[in-house]
Amino acid sequence: MAAINVLNHQTIDKIAAGEVVERPLSVVKELVENAIDAGADAVTVEIKDGGTSLIRVTDNGSGIEKTQIRNAFLRHATSKITSAEDLTSLVTLGFRGEALASIAAVSMVELISKTPQELTGIRYVIEGGVEKEEEEIGAPDGTTVLVRSLFYNTPPRRKFLKQPQTEGSYVADLMEHLAMSNPGVSFKFVMNGQTKFYTTGNRDLHEIVYRIYGREISAQLIPFHSRENGVEIEGLLGKPVINRANRSYEIFYVNGRYIKSTLISKAIEEGYRTYLMQHKFPFCVLHFQIDADRIDVNVHPTKMEVRIADEPLFYDMVKNAIYQALHETEMIPEVTLTKKEAHRGGPESAMQSCPEPFERSRIATEEMKKTISSAQQSACDRVQEPNAYYVSKEGMQNQHVMQAEPVAADIVTPPAGTPSVVTPVQMELFEDKILSAKARVRYQMLGQLFDTYWLISYEDKLLIVDQHAAHEKVKYERLMKHFKEHDIVSQTLVPPIIVTMSGREKECYVRHANDFAALGFVIEEFGGNEYAIRGVPLDLYGYGEKEFFHEILDELSAENVTGTPEGIRIRIATMACKAAVKGNMRMSRQEAEQLIDELLTLENPYHCPHGRPTVISMSKYELEKKFKRIVTS
Ligand code: ADP
Ligand code: MG
Repeated sequence: MAAINVLNHQTIDKIAAGEVVERPLSVVKELVENAIDAGADAVTVEIKDGGTSLIRVTDNGSGIEKTQIRNAFLRHATSKITSAEDLTSLVTLGFRGEALASIAAVSMVELISKTPQELTGIRYVIEGGVEKEEEEIGAPDGTTVLVRSLFYNTPPRRKFLKQPQTEGSYVADLMEHLAMSNPGVSFKFVMNGQTKFYTTGNRDLHEIVYRIYGREISAQLIPFHSRENGVEIEGLLGKPVINRANRSYEIFYVNGRYIKSTLISKAIEEGYRTYLMQHKFPFCVLHFQIDADRIDVNVHPTKMEVRIADEPLFYDMVKNAIYQALHETEMIPEVTLTKKEAHRGGPESAMQSCPEPFERSRIATEEMKKTISSAQQSACDRVQEPNAYYVSKEGMQNQHVMQAEPVAADIVTPPAGTPSVVTPVQMELFEDKILSAKARVRYQMLGQLFDTYWLISYEDKLLIVDQHAAHEKVKYERLMKHFKEHDIVSQTLVPPIIVTMSGREKECYVRHANDFAALGFVIEEFGGNEYAIRGVPLDLYGYGEKEFFHEILDELSAENVTGTPEGIRIRIATMACKAAVKGNMRMSRQEAEQLIDELLTLENPYHCPHGRPTVISMSKYELEKKFKRIVTS
């Protein structure tokens, strides 16, 4: 690594004002960025008590030369740039030369570092900015920084910190983002002695998402790639079915940096617009590569914002590319195999082998073995994953799906090698908007299967509508319409329904009493733990009010919903509709026809409010192929 020099004043003045170390998160971010800048391909981060008592970052990077250690802790000392001109061609994450100095000023730092060229390393201790110890020691190649007692000498800053658990969750979030932004680096994250996740550094973004977010999410991703006007985007788009309630899963990186950008967020959301309901946000992990001369990362000291040249053009490009990718992927789910994954362990098992950065060679051998075996399995994995979501997610319907599985699987198992099943024929479904009111005259109800699914023939397709999902969707849309138009009608219950709430339920209800009232619930205290439900939203009347009320409270307290009042009310409405149609209700054919008619008038009839599909399709072509009327090669 180049020598660490103090920048001259002209350069310092041109760099946006440096951040102060604000919380454990900022320390971890700076130290990991240093590790990456040092070329490490294995980084371990360990924190205790949210990072307030201990932060340890160990890397297997270049190390710092003995003679340079002191310089590293000087303010504005960096090996990464020498002048302001270098900023335009910046390839490192750090460049201000402030992090180590700022961290050392407010904590007790111990740094152990060794370069591969030197035989021994250095242990350097600095507390509150005052040098305490420097000694030569044996050490593995790379650098370890230990930060203890953060803000021990600055009580006002310490007071500003949240609970250790909250600070820890910020760090955990950051670590996830760092792991996804550096798929070639193996990360291990340990919190209070427990390994939270471990990535292998094999550059497989999909695998990283799997290790961090688990099977359900990773089974619903569309690979995405686009290159236009000097901007390359690569990553994964979540299918609309895994929509989120907030923006925190819109994850994107610009030239390797995790950033927040309203412009990019908006462009992504606009690309998804016709696929997601209002107040729902996509899941995506996208890497943007933008020519360095077209962006400015020097806008904000935390380096979380960027300025991009020619914004309107960039915006349109992102939006259109995403829309196009979604559009080309059939969103009415195909029936596919439902076998559980046999070979791959869950994220938990992924944590079992967690080498430290200096055990590099062991990682290499293990990874080689893994790559070979995962290559052998990858084809079937991909085919098997998509349906695992539906099977595991829903209680009642599961059994039916499972029973139907052998037949269904046989009918439309996609040919090996084309797991995502994108056929031009199916795209017409979307363009035609089959589920439009106009299409009503062209469909025919065939009957019901397993008391749950309605079979419909439509042109050359068999559509299967999930009665529960459809019912939930229709109820939700009706309730939402009334809510938005301030037209909520309560149905009075005579006599009222008396419910007994547990302590937890009561606490949850009291917290959300106003929200329940806004949706049309009329609830009064009835002494002790009892409450009288005197009215419910008209749209939910007659659906086992007592049970579904308990269920809403259950879900509400489990989820600990927060956000704007309107957002909270929408969440409650979603839960209410789900709870209301939960029973395995029988429906006459006529009622079902009415339900489907109403479903068809909705703008987005394809998913229930929870994102579960309301309808799946099977084409005549697939059937004929299976009956060998059409012979394919
Ligand atoms: P900056 O990253 O902006 O240069 P820092 O204060 O974070 O400033 O680090 C100062 C210098 O110390 C870096 O420029 C780099 O030369 C050296 N350094 C810091 N951390 C490491 C590390 N983990 N491995 C190798 N060198 C490091
Ligand atoms: Mg740095």
